[in-house]
Amino acid sequence: MFKKILIANRGEIACRVIRASRELGIKTVAIHSEADKTSMHVKMADEAVCVGPASASESYLNIPSIISAAEITGADAIHPGYGFLAENTYFAEVCETCGITFIGPKKTSIEKMGDKIEARKLMIKSKVPVVPGSDGPVSADDPKIFELAKKIGYPVIIKATAGGGGKGMRIVVSEESLKNAILMAQTEAKAAFGNPDVYMEKYVEEPHHIEFQILGDVHGKVVYLPERDCSIQRRHQKLVEESPSPFISDSLRKKMGKAAKSAAEAVGYITVGTVEFLVDKHMNFYFMEMNTRIQVEHPITETITGIDLVREQIRLAAGEKLSFDSSDIKINGHSIECRINAEDPDKDFMPSPGKIGHLYLPGGPGIRVDSHVYSGYTIPPFYDSLIAKIIAHGETRQEAIIRMSRALKETHIEGIRNTASLHSKIMENEQFHNGIVATDFLAKHVFNK
Ligand code: ADP
Repeated sequence: MFKKILIANRGEIACRVIRASRELGIKTVAIHSEADKTSMHVKMADEAVCVGPASASESYLNIPSIISAAEITGADAIHPGYGFLAENTYFAEVCETCGITFIGPKKTSIEKMGDKIEARKLMIKSKVPVVPGSDGPVSADDPKIFELAKKIGYPVIIKATAGGGGKGMRIVVSEESLKNAILMAQTEAKAAFGNPDVYMEKYVEEPHHIEFQILGDVHGKVVYLPERDCSIQRRHQKLVEESPSPFISDSLRKKMGKAAKSAAEAVGYITVGTVEFLVDKHMNFYFMEMNTRIQVEHPITETITGIDLVREQIRLAAGEKLSFDSSDIKINGHSIECRINAEDPDKDFMPSPGKIGHLYLPGGPGIRVDSHVYSGYTIPPFYDSLIAKIIAHGETRQEAIIRMSRALKETHIEGIRNTASLHSKIMENEQFHNGIVATDFLAKHVFNK
């Protein structure tokens, strides 16, 4: 097992990794930017190293600085969290060259799943269903795009091959807007990922986003855990997640779980990862992508399965064996997560950084909060706006919703605007209570667009 883990991240996920490491008896090193000196992950870790100025490109993405910090402190492993360098093959390779274990999959698995077109091809080969779409990147000046879109059938969606966080995506309902949508998606993709390549897919109408947590060990064993339903999204970004999904049946769960396992096996996957699918109203499911890291929403799976996913991730990276099978897993009740962001829901979700005054985060039966904020903490404007994840667990979905509503009402974060009030509205929504919500739920039933 590792002796010391450096966490190449910040915020709540850095704190989460420190907690898991500490329970395993492993020392921790936090890295931070100049803007994050007073952050909770810095206070929580055994040691901390400043790796650069506020801008992420000079600090949390600064590979030479991070590797130096690991070498100076004698860390034998690096946990990348999510975002930043978590899916960067070059970083995984540098870690390996320097004799430091990258707590994640092999470089080749990240590479194969990182390019969405390549991943689609591999899935077709592995008999995992994919959304009908283009075989490769599409270009606005290629006259064949019109024929292709017609063949796929409108509406289509243009997506970035290097995509992430819902960026570089455009839905196209008819021929007139196709060219423009490709150009806009390319510009957005270039700005967000440094790669302008986009491809075309059938836009699945009223889809449900259903994903499967998988775990793999170095001995070739892969297991899947019960699904997470992440259909409540704003601009293709998840806001609320729940497990199990109120939408799918036990038999579909098994079928999709097995497809997720095949997807992971196709790239020789180790540690933890997530296979994302879209499910249409006729219960057809399609592979969308695989995220080769721990996900923001992992706690809902932990809550209903009793498995500490970050601990498992560390154990598996250290070469330990998976100690259970998918069939051993019992679903214990129902779990919901609300992402609380420092954003103003009344001003088009404008970021709301600044100093937190009085702070009270909820607790009591069935409530878990993963957060890095505290009274007097100043949220810097440089990074993502997630400030807390509230996770409610109940014996039934109804109980989890009641608990979440209660927890949201207890939440007091003074000094900044946050999205707790929006979550309260969602928890009170009749459509949500009925359980059948697709990815257009928020726009249709909460914002009434
Ligand atoms: P990202 O990597 O940017 O998160 P994903 O491929 O995971 O992109 O898609 C994010 C979200 O975009 C999905 O959860 C879904 O809401 C929407 N989406 C993506 N592809 C399609 C599609 N073919 N049809 C309908 N919605 C889609």
